[in-house]
Amino acid sequence: MKRCSHPGCSWQSIAPSGDAALEQFAEHLVESHSKTVDVDIPEGMVQIRLHEDDEWVTTTFEEAQKLHDWSQDE
Ligand SMILES: [Zn+2]
Repeated sequence: MKRCSHPGCSWQSIAPSGDAALEQFAEHLVESHSKTVDVDIPEGMVQIRLHEDDEWVTTTFEEAQKLHDWSQDE
C-alpha cells in the first residue's frame, strides 16, 4: 500500500496493484500537494514535490505521474 510522503497527510492508496496505487499517488500529489499560485506556470502545468524537503518541480500532469519512479524504492 502506498502512503503519502508528506508529514501530517493521512492519504494512502486503496488500489490493489502497485501501478494503480502509484497512479493514485501521483493524482493525490497534484490535487493536494501542488501549487499553482504566484509563479508563471503554463496552462496545464502543475508544481509538485514528492517530499516535504524537495524542490518544487514544474511539470505536466502526465510527467507528474512518472515522477513516482523517484519514490518507488521505499
Ligand atoms: Zn498527501
